[in-house]
Amino acid sequence: MAWLLLFFFLGVGVWSFQGGHLMIVVYFILSVVLYVFYAFLARCPRCRMPVLLRPVKLFGMELYRWSLFVPERCGHCGEALP
Ligand SMILES: [Zn+2]
Repeated sequence: MAWLLLFFFLGVGVWSFQGGHLMIVVYFILSVVLYVFYAFLARCPRCRMPVLLRPVKLFGMELYRWSLFVPERCGHCGEALP
């Protein structure tokens, strides 16, 4: 009976651990999806370019990198962002 109780509690413990693990994964995926949505929806009101996409000059080439935070000004036309 005690063994059965221990087995039961272990099962509950593993189940709740997997549930918590799943919650963390779901939360992580949700935040990534929200960021991607925001990155494509948040656009400069003047040049319509995504404000999180910032041009970077590297070895004479113009590359683009994704910024995690919204900059104060548009990286393309310099328009002040709200
Ligand atoms: Zn712009």
